[in-house]
Amino acid sequence: MCGASMKEMPNILWLEEIKKEDIVSVGGKGASLGEMTSLGLPVPKAFVVTAQAFRKFLIEKGIEDTIFRRLERLDVDDNDSLESVSREVQNIVLSVDIPDHIKRDIVDAYARMGANGEVVAVRSSATAEDLPEASFAGQQETFLNVLGDDDLLEAVQRCWASLYGARAIYYRAKQGFDDRGVNIAVVVQDLIRSEKSGVLFTSHPVTGEPLTIVEGSWGLGEAVVSGSVSPDNYVFDLRSGRVVDRLIAEKEIMIVPEGERGVKTVNLTPEERIAPVLSDDEVARLATFGKIAEEHYGVPQDIEWAIVGDEIFILQSRPITTIRQPDIPRAGAKPASTLGEVLLEGQGASPGIASGRVVIVRDVRDTSTIEEGDILVTRMTNPDMVPAMRRVRAIVTDEGGMTCHAAIVSRELGTPAVVGTKKATKTLQDGQVITVDGEKGIIYEGAVEAPAPAAQATTVAAAAPIVTGTLVKVNVSLPEAAERAAATGADGVGLLRIEHLILGLAKTPGWYVEHGEEETFINELYTGIKTVLDAFPGKSVWVRTLDAPTDEFRNMEGGEVEPIEHNPMLGWRGIRRDLKSPEQFRMQVEAFKRLWAAGYSNLGVMFPLVNHPAEFIQARAMMKEWGVDVEKAILGVMIEVPSSAILIEDFIKAGIRFASFGTNDLVQYTLAIDRNNEHVADMYEPEHPAVLWLIDYAIRACREHGVECSICGQAGSDPDMVAWLVGHGITSVSANIDAVVRIREAVARKERQILLDAARRNA
Ligand code: PEP
Ligand code: MG
Repeated sequence: MCGASMKEMPNILWLEEIKKEDIVSVGGKGASLGEMTSLGLPVPKAFVVTAQAFRKFLIEKGIEDTIFRRLERLDVDDNDSLESVSREVQNIVLSVDIPDHIKRDIVDAYARMGANGEVVAVRSSATAEDLPEASFAGQQETFLNVLGDDDLLEAVQRCWASLYGARAIYYRAKQGFDDRGVNIAVVVQDLIRSEKSGVLFTSHPVTGEPLTIVEGSWGLGEAVVSGSVSPDNYVFDLRSGRVVDRLIAEKEIMIVPEGERGVKTVNLTPEERIAPVLSDDEVARLATFGKIAEEHYGVPQDIEWAIVGDEIFILQSRPITTIRQPDIPRAGAKPASTLGEVLLEGQGASPGIASGRVVIVRDVRDTSTIEEGDILVTRMTNPDMVPAMRRVRAIVTDEGGMTCHAAIVSRELGTPAVVGTKKATKTLQDGQVITVDGEKGIIYEGAVEAPAPAAQATTVAAAAPIVTGTLVKVNVSLPEAAERAAATGADGVGLLRIEHLILGLAKTPGWYVEHGEEETFINELYTGIKTVLDAFPGKSVWVRTLDAPTDEFRNMEGGEVEPIEHNPMLGWRGIRRDLKSPEQFRMQVEAFKRLWAAGYSNLGVMFPLVNHPAEFIQARAMMKEWGVDVEKAILGVMIEVPSSAILIEDFIKAGIRFASFGTNDLVQYTLAIDRNNEHVADMYEPEHPAVLWLIDYAIRACREHGVECSICGQAGSDPDMVAWLVGHGITSVSANIDAVVRIREAVARKERQILLDAARRNA
């Protein structure tokens, strides 16, 4: 940006003054609001603190160079540095005063907002100079319910600082944006105290089907956008001008403004829960506004709306698009014929191609010889190998299937892996150079050049993914993967496996209890879970209580007292262990309580391996005894044992708020196929009719009772399986980080097909 012309640029622009070309000054959000205003859509009154005001602030306060030099030196793949540089830069932005002339302009504009303009929403609107249409949605802060000059100035400054949040820095670096060219504008807008709100999706330009899908719920839109409530769903046919389908959901809560600055969640009365949010007339008016926006922009729009009394407001409109961002290298770019001799085959467990020197690890002590860029070859990884797994370029195991420890961890680390080769530790030699294709599951002799980045398929979505009715969440096991997981644009975390966090501590939970070190354990849990919650602000994060089989604890300090079990998968794990080890359970609950007390109301707790509703009831009673408000807490179960699918109605009666299919276990317990046994891996079949029957049965019951139903097993990363699940009415799916984009595409395709079928039936 050129200094001379920038000085003349205004600090403030009103929506009525904004033209399309102003996107560099007002960001995508600001420009879109301005454009919608000029179309005559009912947009709440707003002004924008321009990107130039932000730049003037950086320059006049002399902090510009310090910030950009810090960012230039940063290796965004080093999570610790990323976090600390992000904190440092944000502190710089927050610690200096806003120049007087900018302050004055903001406060004057605020005064001119008028009678309704006292309470405002303050939203970030980031923009890139050379690519102004780039979408950075969802990465910077929004403040609702801001009141008074001081609060407003603070909110604006916090929006500016949020340009340097860890997730935002990471995302831009991976997209190849130069931080020097990225700016931030801030939209200050009348806060609409919506009585009803939601989103609507306009028709598809390719099929030409003039259907509008409207989702709505009570209160502020955050409930729908964050996925904390299942909204009503209306399908409007623009040809007939009629609502052709409606699904009235059971809406348990609404979010309303609270006090001067905050928002709160309110439980709805039984009548409100099942009452339709919208009349046909309101759906029709919303669809008309949607049509105006779509016709103007020329592409289908995803629109946020709100209603107060009988007044409709359009809050945001953006195209329904997928922007891809480069991230994890994936396999498939190189034709097999150009690769070396095939040495081994197994299951491709984590996509990507990598070459390196083999290091065979028979014991965790062998990992000390592993150097950056080596390939770890072992019988099976275990938790104490995770530090070494972070260093290697690829992982190969003799044992295991798609859901074993090596598979789960390598996918989170974005490291290519082939599991279940049966004999890698025998066939391969220390020091031998090999190439691992983690997608096809093949190990080649020698090194091949890595495919050029441009040729590699991309796997992680952008901030503006396709909008789907079915939520697409992500699974996380390692807190360090949280930012990458969030960068997929996932709608929340459908499974946070905390045992990986615990196993990384190298001491069993029992050890902490035994040595009076409960506080250390609680703090570790608190910090790890908080990292994930922070990466998913306002989105639901289901944290699963401990579920490590005894054999995984055995190598850790304190592990000597773990029982030797013939079949650990059927043994002392999951909720059954917590119920009988209250000290262990209580430490986890204490961490959850502290997080709830710190304001993380998006944390839900999920109990693993339940096989009878009595276990859920007992776990909840223990939590209550330990001071948890169990009426408010979002508690749910995994459906991993056939009995829990069969007894789903009783679980619902017992008060679960959600159920999630853990198909990794559900398949093994339904079919008697050990999920980690490569000898029967070919019989491990999530699409087995018995498994599908159980899933279908449980989904129906959940739908009937308005309970969120999800999947977090590996089958939730399989597009075909996910299409089947969407067709059978699942409410959300949770996929591995590398699979979120293709799963969202599969969900969108299936939803579109369902809508078209419905429209044809009604035509
Ligand atoms: C499952 O069983 O599907 C699941 C997600 O849990 P885990 O893989 O951790 O057993
Ligand atoms: Mg499981």
